[in-house]
Amino acid sequence: MYLTPLVDYHTHTTFSTDGSSTMREMVSAAADAGISEIAITDHYDPDYRLDGWGEEFSQVEYQNELILVREEFKDRVTLVKGLEIGIQHGDTLNKCRQAVRSFNYDFILGSFHCAEEFELSNGSFFENRSVEAATLAFYKYVYDCLYDYKDYDVLGHINVIDRYGPYVPSYHDLMDVVSEVLKLIIRDGKGIEINTSSFRYGMGDHTTPSQDILLLYHELGGEIITVGSDAHSVCDVGYGIKWAYEKMKSVGFRYVTTFNQRKPEFIKL
Ligand SMILES: [Zn+2]
Ligand SMILES: [Zn+2]
Repeated sequence: MYLTPLVDYHTHTTFSTDGSSTMREMVSAAADAGISEIAITDHYDPDYRLDGWGEEFSQVEYQNELILVREEFKDRVTLVKGLEIGIQHGDTLNKCRQAVRSFNYDFILGSFHCAEEFELSNGSFFENRSVEAATLAFYKYVYDCLYDYKDYDVLGHINVIDRYGPYVPSYHDLMDVVSEVLKLIIRDGKGIEINTSSFRYGMGDHTTPSQDILLLYHELGGEIITVGSDAHSVCDVGYGIKWAYEKMKSVGFRYVTTFNQRKPEFIKL
């Protein structure tokens, strides 16, 4: 038996355009998998560039469903009311702020799926520049946004950019800017996540975050760190959580973080 309670802090349901299981199915799967706490973090990505994504999502319905399912499963699994916001500069920041403040969420995952008005997943961000230059530009963009925007708890999949380029660049010349992002996060009392979907994306050793980023975060004094599968269907709920715990311990972290009413709590690893 695994002694540390298993928590999954990044999951999607059919409230997300790309989710394929209902909230009830996801929470039921978590209970069956021995997960003691699951954060549902559906997408609120108001200015995502692809058609059919994001804004039609009803936060009122979402909240109502969260409350119902939480009550239904309360004896088996703790349901955390989360939201994954898609951060972009400009007016998107106001939309995100508004969404976060309008509802009583426990946990806000701040993620980047776009940068400089490009969507990352279709590779357009890499056009007409080297992978190294694009990756540097990505982290600068993240820094600029997070310098202005503080209404989140944890930065989602920090090195998401590595998924979408033609190859993963050497981070030798990138660690300075990554370091600035991490210092900003720590200074603001925010955290990062280990996102185990890197294995589903076939990223091999290029985990999310990479070992180097994780080590740097620890060295800089980062303590808030959540773990999430980024599951979009029942089959991935809880995926890789034990792996993440072992990874965290090997790097020197002693606690995994959970959130209640936007306040971090710490479970000993
Ligand atoms: Zn995401
Ligand atoms: Zn996600």
